[in-house]
Amino acid sequence: MAKKMTTTAGNPIADNQNSKTAGPRGGLMLEDYQLLEKLAHQNRERVPERVVHAKGWGAHGTLTITHDITKYSKAAIFSEVGKATPMISRFSTVAGEMGAADNERDVRGFAFKFYTEEGNWDMVGNNTPVFFLRDPYKFPDFIHTQKRHPKTNMRSGTAMWDYWSQSPEALHQVTILMSDRGCPKTPMHMNGYGSHTFSLINAEGVRHWVKFHFKTRQGHDFYTNAESAAKIGQTREGYQEALFGAIEDGMFPKWDMKIQVMTEEEAEAAPFNPFDLTKVWPHADYPMIDVGVVELNRNPENYFAEIETCAYSPSNVVPGIGFSPDKVLQARIFSYADAHRYRIGTHYEQLPVNQPKCPVHHYHKDGAMNFMGQLTGATDAYYEPNTMGGAEEQPSYAEPALAISGDMDRFNHRDGNDDYSQPRALHDLFSSDQRARLYMNTAEAMHGVDDVIINRVLTHYDLISEEYGNGIRAARAELAGASQAAQ
Ligand code: NDP
Repeated sequence: MAKKMTTTAGNPIADNQNSKTAGPRGGLMLEDYQLLEKLAHQNRERVPERVVHAKGWGAHGTLTITHDITKYSKAAIFSEVGKATPMISRFSTVAGEMGAADNERDVRGFAFKFYTEEGNWDMVGNNTPVFFLRDPYKFPDFIHTQKRHPKTNMRSGTAMWDYWSQSPEALHQVTILMSDRGCPKTPMHMNGYGSHTFSLINAEGVRHWVKFHFKTRQGHDFYTNAESAAKIGQTREGYQEALFGAIEDGMFPKWDMKIQVMTEEEAEAAPFNPFDLTKVWPHADYPMIDVGVVELNRNPENYFAEIETCAYSPSNVVPGIGFSPDKVLQARIFSYADAHRYRIGTHYEQLPVNQPKCPVHHYHKDGAMNFMGQLTGATDAYYEPNTMGGAEEQPSYAEPALAISGDMDRFNHRDGNDDYSQPRALHDLFSSDQRARLYMNTAEAMHGVDDVIINRVLTHYDLISEEYGNGIRAARAELAGASQAAQ
């Protein structure tokens, strides 16, 4: 027998085709609560899309530990080789809205939520090891340049290059964005990076600084600008089709999880600021250490419930994994959870996809959609401390103190920073074909932007390497020649 259709309150619905009217020509009866409920729900089908990373794709999977890193971290997730922890992924573009085409050139969000027995650990990174800025004060301005102009409602190359021409720290990330890795073919063909420096804390309470890496086993693959335009012409959902389709076909994508570590003493002595989000830790000095493998093997049953409202936040850490003085990380610790409270609601962590798979006890009370009631652990314990058997703080989880001090001020984040060596190292490792594509992608992105702005940013490219600056100039001249020839 077919399942009985009902209202949200469970009342059987006799007719879901015809509204209730006074005669066949109308008008409508206000008492038609079934119609009213249907329309009211349609009005509420959307939650606000993310201001950044609005378009996403994801799947469920597992992290399996293959190597012992317990000397660095006491986190339960790393406790033994062979241990498997369930997780869910979400990949995304940064700038485009919910309906944006998947295959656009952009940085990709790369987020994993691990459901550990000591709470959720969210690794909310990107497919790049660095970012456009090192001070979170710059973030809203930077993002405005990636979004729509307030008058034209179009994206503006002028805004992007005007900003970048005054922000040399961005050019490391811009180099990656304009390189082959700026347009990966699918979510499976890219690495993930925690990007920030985090802490690992072991059972003895010793802290190491750490960078997280997830290296694709599918290999890196990319589209050129022309190929991506053709792909978008065929489908705007290229990533969804590729990821969802691969998993439906039983071809489960994998990433090798690795870490780089640095002692606190090494960090003091490092020639660069190890907490600067625009810098990598050179592999030669801080070699990769194997940890495990991530496999994605189950598609969501419902995109909205499992991907759109899956709420990642760098504030979700577990004992054995902690933060660092990276200012951008510290700002994200606030702003991600804040965004979810706004987008989804105060109790977004109670949604099934966000719920930890371990007991949760706290004294936050009531509020809209608080469907779990009281989580203090005892009926009479609704304040803390209490002698009513409520949950208690656990001093044994305190992290080792961090000896950082200094005068409180607004320090110029550009003072004394070398913004050119690392993009130079990246430029130097590109083959001549890769360089040619980098120059042309950059020149194409500069199309229509005033020469004053372009000349200002080219002075920074020259400081990375004259070959780089001149390569962009030559690509611009080639584009101008092609456009003249076409007229
Ligand atoms: P290495 O030569 O040891 O490492 C270079 C790394 O660059 C590779 O391991 C790879 O990172 C990455 N890489 C290789 N080809 C490309 C490409 N076409 N586009 C983007 N990245 C690529 O040198 P260093 O560690 O000293 O780093 C040199 C430069 O490489 C850095 O300035 C940075 O720009 C870039 N890089 C460094 C990373 C790091 O963590 N040290 C990570 C990624 C890039 P992967 O193994 O992660 O694929």
